[in-house]
Amino acid sequence: LNGLAIGATVRKPAPPVRQAPVVKKAAPRTQATATRKRRPVARRPVLIAKPVALVTAQDLPELIPPVERLKVSELSDSFLTRRGNIVHQAIDIMRPLGDPLVAVTDGVIRKVGVNPLGGLTVYLVDAAGRYCYYYAHLSGYSEGLAEGQAVRQGDVIGYVGDTGNARGGPPHLHFQITKIRNENWWTGPVVNPDPLLKKAALEALRDGVPAEPIPEPALTELPR
Ligand SMILES: [Zn+2]
Repeated sequence: LNGLAIGATVRKPAPPVRQAPVVKKAAPRTQATATRKRRPVARRPVLIAKPVALVTAQDLPELIPPVERLKVSELSDSFLTRRGNIVHQAIDIMRPLGDPLVAVTDGVIRKVGVNPLGGLTVYLVDAAGRYCYYYAHLSGYSEGLAEGQAVRQGDVIGYVGDTGNARGGPPHLHFQITKIRNENWWTGPVVNPDPLLKKAALEALRDGVPAEPIPEPALTELPR
């Protein structure tokens, strides 16, 4: 009885045997493709952003000049001048080698790095995360300067130089302002720093008597 009972129990319809799926090793080519697809898009800052757009007066950050004791007469508007096949989306401030460069606003050092055009560069993003300030051709960084570091307006972040494609020419600061529109913080429309720095240079002289006429701090609206 026991034997039968056991037998009856055992002879229940067996569930269909599933064959273990055959695991095929992906061909090397397929695997490579998959890897390529998964890899996040490289987020490498580029020197040249798209010129565009309208920047309203309320958007304007309160800046101090990126160099000490900047005179309005030192500024010449080279924004959007063409140099070969490159449009200059910044301004250049000629300064002696090693002159200190300061943070134009409170913010965070977003990136410190070297690229072929800019040489030694710093990207500063203001505390509100609205604008990116790009300093290029540095001869060096202030001691310990690091990505993610918070800086206060006026802190020295580096020194004037002639690195990158400024090599062989006079040392200067290449200074670019980019409006941040999305997570690709280094790409947004560029803003002409010239009127902003003229205003900032004059405000830095607030206690003295500015000897030069006060320029209209207007921004350029650029065609697409
Ligand atoms: Zn430049």
